[in-house]
Amino acid sequence: MDITHDDIVALIQLQQLDLELMRQRKELDELPQRAVILEARQKKAAIAEKQAKVAGLKRDVSRKVTRINDEDSSLAKKQQGTEAAIAAAKGEYRNVEARTKELASITRRREDIASDLDKVLEELAKIEDLEAQIALALEDVDAREQAAVASFKEQGGALKLAIMKQEAERERMVAGLGKQVVSAYQKAAARSGGVAIGRLDGARCGVCRTGIEGGRLIELKAQAPLGTCPNCKRLLIIE
Ligand SMILES: [Zn+2]
Repeated sequence: MDITHDDIVALIQLQQLDLELMRQRKELDELPQRAVILEARQKKAAIAEKQAKVAGLKRDVSRKVTRINDEDSSLAKKQQGTEAAIAAAKGEYRNVEARTKELASITRRREDIASDLDKVLEELAKIEDLEAQIALALEDVDAREQAAVASFKEQGGALKLAIMKQEAERERMVAGLGKQVVSAYQKAAARSGGVAIGRLDGARCGVCRTGIEGGRLIELKAQAPLGTCPNCKRLLIIE
């Protein structure tokens, strides 16, 4: 490979930049706010489900209240009518007796449903308490989500910007290097998933530490200033 000392220096810089880029991309992927946001959203969905159930319960109980009130007002009218009929009967015994019985039955029924209403209203009050608790919980989770989103935007935005700047810098660096060198480096980087370039350290690869013997070492040294480790296939700077 036709390669100069400047190319080697540039390759080392490229390697440093790539490692830094990898670190920053990983940091962006692993920002803790992501997990907080996800958890908050799952919680909100669960709370919304509960809220819908409670709203359904409230509708049912409210209907009961309406039914009871309707029945009571119709009974109240009947009661008035019966009372008027008793007054109109002017002491006519049989009529008064029948109407009085009717009146007593209406009164009993009104007492019964008044006690039903008390129970149902108690139930409604409990549901409304629950509703208020759920609204508070939702507010709390929502605030946590919003804080995490804001913090993610700030921290993640700064990281994204840094990454973009370095990517632009990388493009400039790559443009300044020969195609053959860049291609060899990219292949080694893709294979290693990280450190793509090292130094020959005596008779060892400076990265994988494998000893390189006899003929292979002579062969490698002949590739100076840049060869390939026969074991890990990383690029090796040979000084
Ligand atoms: Zn190696």
